[in-house]
This record gives sequence, structure tokens and C-alpha cells, in this order.
Amino acid sequence: MARYTEAVCRLCRREDMKLYLKGDRCYTNKCAIDRRGYAPGQHGQRKHKQTEYGMQLREKQKAKRIYGVLESQFRKYYDMAVKKKGVTGNNLLQILETRLDNVVYRLGFAASRKEARQLVLHEHFTVNGKKVNIPSYLIEVGDVIQLKDKSKKSDKFKAVVESTSSKIVPKWLEVDVDKFEGKVIALPEREDIDLEIEDHLIVELYSR
Ligand code: SF4
Repeated sequence: MARYTEAVCRLCRREDMKLYLKGDRCYTNKCAIDRRGYAPGQHGQRKHKQTEYGMQLREKQKAKRIYGVLESQFRKYYDMAVKKKGVTGNNLLQILETRLDNVVYRLGFAASRKEARQLVLHEHFTVNGKKVNIPSYLIEVGDVIQLKDKSKKSDKFKAVVESTSSKIVPKWLEVDVDKFEGKVIALPEREDIDLEIEDHLIVELYSR
């Protein structure tokens, strides 16, 4: 299965912002953005004037990197967003948020989206009682995501939940930490998605 393999902190430095790709490390002073807050590479410290196209492209790359989605799938999500009622940019982010790996991360069952993706691939979660090992599976309102009974006994999950306990679970999700269970009570609205992504720039890019 295709996935990003580039050193992840370089991705944050390229986008000039924290994308929170490494879990706990992102909140410590080891974060590469805090230590070397300039773009990677030989000319990373030079200031470049960005064109309109460049800004649109960066915004798309940022969104893809945050959610760990490659171009072909991202384009598919865009096409889905266009067909849905409402504002295309908002629809796009809503679709990305409803990926199962993102929901597992948002519920606090993984320290990062990357870790959530691994956990889903390794069949630790069920959706409505059925095993689902597809990170891109799109959840719907009313779906119940649960850690499998066997996995609940693992110290690893107890430690993850402890480390993410201070994280605020978005209001479109409901979590029962003791049962390792989460429920989707609504689809996320744009204001529920706490990411600095100018989605209209992505729409402009694909509408060229
Ligand atoms: Fe990005 Fe996290 Fe690396 Fe900081 S530690 S640069 S936020 S992935």
C-alpha cells in the first residue's frame, strides 16, 4: 500500500508549521519546527516570493501531509466534495476528517494519525462490531468505533490513552475511555476542524 516515506519533520519544515505528525514529540522542545524553523535543503533559509499558484499548491500539500493521503486519493476526495451539497472546501475537509484513521486519532486512541493508521491496519478496531482494517474507511453518523477486546488488555493502549487524555475530543465525537469506545454523533462542520488550512486555495487549484 502506498504511503509517505519522507522524514516527517521535513514535511513540517517545508510547510513552515507544525503538522503534528510524530505524536508526543511534537509537543516537546525536540520538535524540528522549534529547533530549525526554516525549509529543509541547501536554500531553505532563503526567502522566496510565492506566486498564487505556489500558495495554492502548498495548501494542498499541507492538507495531504496532515492526513497522510497521497495525490490520487486526495483528488478522489476532491471529486466527491464537488458532488456533495454545500461548500466544496468544507466538504473536502469533512471527508478527510471522517477517515477511520483520523477518527481513531481524534478519539485519543492513537498519538498521531500515522500511528492510528498502523493500528487500523493491524486490525485493532471494529466499526459497529465488524472488523475494519482500512484506514481510509469513511465513517458515518451513528457508527461506533471500538477497540477489540483482545487489544483492550494491552498496556500499550492504556499508555496511549493516558498520554492523550488531556486532548480535547471534538464535539462531533463521543468517547467512553473506559470501554475504549467512540461514537460519531454528527458530521464535523468547518468550525469543528481545528486546522489552519485555507481550503478555498485547494479548490482554486483544482478549478484551474
Ligand atoms: Fe512536525 Fe511533530 Fe516533527 Fe515538530 S516533531 S516537526 S510538529 S512532526
